[in-house]
Amino acid sequence: MFKINENYLKLPGSYLFSAIAKKVAAYEEANPDRQVIRLGIGDVTLPIAPAIVEAIHKAADEMGQARTFHGYAPDLGYAFLRETIVEKDYRLWGCHVEADEIFISDGAKSDCGNIQEIFSEDSRIAVCDPVYPVYVDSNVMAGRTGSYDPATGMWSNVIYMPCTAQNHFVPELPQETPDLIYLCVPNNPTGTTLTRDQLKVWVDYANRAGAVILYDAAYEAYISEEDVPHSIFEIEGARTCAIEFRSFSKKAGFTGVRLGFTVVPKDLKCGDVMLHSLWARRHGTKFNGAPYIEQRAGEAVYSEEGSRQVMEQVAYYKRNAMVIYEGLKEAGHTVFGGINSPYIWLKVEDGMDSWEFFDYLLEQANVVGTPGSGFGPSGEGYFRLTAFGTYENTVEAVKRIKALRR
Ligand SMILES: *Cc1c(COP(=O)(O)O)cnc(C)c1O
Repeated sequence: MFKINENYLKLPGSYLFSAIAKKVAAYEEANPDRQVIRLGIGDVTLPIAPAIVEAIHKAADEMGQARTFHGYAPDLGYAFLRETIVEKDYRLWGCHVEADEIFISDGAKSDCGNIQEIFSEDSRIAVCDPVYPVYVDSNVMAGRTGSYDPATGMWSNVIYMPCTAQNHFVPELPQETPDLIYLCVPNNPTGTTLTRDQLKVWVDYANRAGAVILYDAAYEAYISEEDVPHSIFEIEGARTCAIEFRSFSKKAGFTGVRLGFTVVPKDLKCGDVMLHSLWARRHGTKFNGAPYIEQRAGEAVYSEEGSRQVMEQVAYYKRNAMVIYEGLKEAGHTVFGGINSPYIWLKVEDGMDSWEFFDYLLEQANVVGTPGSGFGPSGEGYFRLTAFGTYENTVEAVKRIKALRR
């Protein structure tokens, strides 16, 4: 009789977004005359920019002609895209990354989730709390996290690094030594960042401790402030301790197109084994390349027209973020994030917890957000609003939230 991977049974139900959907549906059914505004989603809403659509059309036509047809893509991705990425995302920022250190993929979620496979089963992971759930859940499936305590919402074999207003959302170096450290900068869900100096502390620590930093830079395009690094490879020493994940999803609206990449520097080694070789082997065995059409779409993100159009979209969302951030501040709320990120992280007050505030906002302002406790125990008492709605809805939502405070 076959057996299943019992680790899957340890996963608590992914309750957050289904619980939100249920509550919103019930409210809308009971109050059909109300216009509910959704600022809970982590998905973009603007359509793909014209220069990119044009590249997609062109690539699709190429696929229809024997002379220009493309079959399996090279394992690591097409050189035209990898070289463009090296030039525009790294050399221009003064980072040393080579084209053959870039692995093109179908998105950052798969890579963040799969990377743990190349590490030993007994690796100890450290995560920020609150956190993007993929890092922990993928390690649960692999059997690394020990047992789950529903009372605390924590795993016995995971090192949690609380990030709250108290430590200005800067994780402190852990007391126990981890093997793998997940960092997401700018952060989902808190919208906060690390400065170069703060990230240098982590790079030095990882090199000293013999740990690897798994650096998720999915929101890099939203960085406004000068002292926030766009890549961990801006930091001296990162080539011997860090892997970086990038995504076209939040930058260019590719959530439905699917394209991302991972940088594994060749200087990152365990003894004389390069992690690069392991990831190349894994990629070649379990992934058959991102589609040609998508890789041409990715290339167009960096063209003169494409990058201008994409940055206009990012600017649109960032304007929404400022509307939320400034509006809530004016209303007397304590707010974080929003400046280098499409996420605003709000401190819940008046003795409410995250879910009570969710209900209050839904019922009193007809605005939907995400309870912070859904991202980890240290998210309790906070609430996430996203800038991915329309400008008009964002302005209206903020107006309603402000009115509650009068
Ligand atoms: C959205 C998101 C991703 C997923 O990116 P895809 O490229 O669409 O898979 C990865 N990490 C974080 C933190 C995200 O919020």
